[in-house]
Amino acid sequence: MTTEDRAAALDTADPLGHVVDRFVTGGGVQAYLDGNSLGRPTRVTAERMRTFVDDEWGGRLIRGWDERWFDLPLTLGDRIGAVTLGAAPGQTVVGDSTTVLLYKLIRAALALRPDRTEIILDRGNFPTDRYLAEGIAEETGAVLRWIDPPFDGGVTADAVAEVISDRTALVLISHVAYRSGHLLDAPAITGLAHTHGALVLLDVCHSAGSVVLDLDGWDVDLAVGCTYKYLNGGPGAPAFAYVAQRHLDNIVQPIWGWMGAADSFGMAQGYVPAQGIRRILSGTPAVLGMLPMADMLDLIEEVGVEAIRVKSVALTSFALKLVDELLAPFDVELSTPRDPAERGGHLTVDHPAFREITPRLWRDGIIPDFRGPTGIRLGLSPLSTTFDEVRLGIEAIREELAVHPS
Ligand SMILES: *Cc1c(COP(=O)(O)O)cnc(C)c1O
Repeated sequence: MTTEDRAAALDTADPLGHVVDRFVTGGGVQAYLDGNSLGRPTRVTAERMRTFVDDEWGGRLIRGWDERWFDLPLTLGDRIGAVTLGAAPGQTVVGDSTTVLLYKLIRAALALRPDRTEIILDRGNFPTDRYLAEGIAEETGAVLRWIDPPFDGGVTADAVAEVISDRTALVLISHVAYRSGHLLDAPAITGLAHTHGALVLLDVCHSAGSVVLDLDGWDVDLAVGCTYKYLNGGPGAPAFAYVAQRHLDNIVQPIWGWMGAADSFGMAQGYVPAQGIRRILSGTPAVLGMLPMADMLDLIEEVGVEAIRVKSVALTSFALKLVDELLAPFDVELSTPRDPAERGGHLTVDHPAFREITPRLWRDGIIPDFRGPTGIRLGLSPLSTTFDEVRLGIEAIREELAVHPS
């Protein structure tokens, strides 16, 4: 069977194959392999945006705040919680960027553990997470305890156990590592942190919408995630924050604004935080940016996250097979765990020629991501990616390597 036939057979048998048509395509793209950086828009989103401008913004005008927009960060947050996070209502809110929400929750976590000084984090985490922690360390005097995970893996409970102590205030980790795709054991690490009296802030940017999450069940304290990746919210769509119910009465975040206050329109002197998850907000929410993700949440709810994870594992497993068959002969190195239970929805391969090759792939409508110094990352967004796109992408990489084997 040719590789093309194998891909076609997998697409035919794919129980989620029918939803691929729900997404906008075009632009001469043959294989979109970066849905974990920016998900495709759903087709219904274009119509939703138009009717919003005409009817809700244009028709309701300022009345829209009372009617729907003021509570949208909370109602949409509850929906993200229910559909993708395993979070009961009242614990998730949409607002700000991932970076800003991470800042707020790292500071809030330190404030919840005032007698402790250390933050555990790892060098494999996304830059913004690391930079924020560095800045907060400067600002507060907190001490950073670094873990160095393997290039093709991620943080393990054993690695956390080596650095955790009764000085640890917070463990800051990504559920799925942005480069290696390593999926960590969140319940084990959370359990370990709690044994030592520390809190866990889980960055779920690369897992929400692609792997099954159970934040309530795992007893996670805090989480932050992106909505423009697997939740297809569009470029710059606002992020979400999760705070476990048990912390809501005591948590204080450092950016005190009127939208997180107890009586936003009271305009009174003196900040009093709102009850519940609203206190994580600061300023006016980005209502326009919150609309597209709602369509993707509908779709995720329709098919279910379990089915999405099954398709995701099938896509990454097929990609891994093709990497072994087609790219390994060119000394391409796999930088992602082989065990599907230990990886999320993307995989990364490394080769010194990839920096040079990636722009040529893009020119030909094959769109993976380049992650320095030498990585190509294949992000396989389960609902919008076909097996044939995986095949086209990896065959194109092989062809480029054959021409430029340096
Ligand atoms: C994508 C990503 C971010 C992005 O943060 P922004 O504030 O949206 O730029 C942060 N952390 C992780 C782990 C990510 O994958």
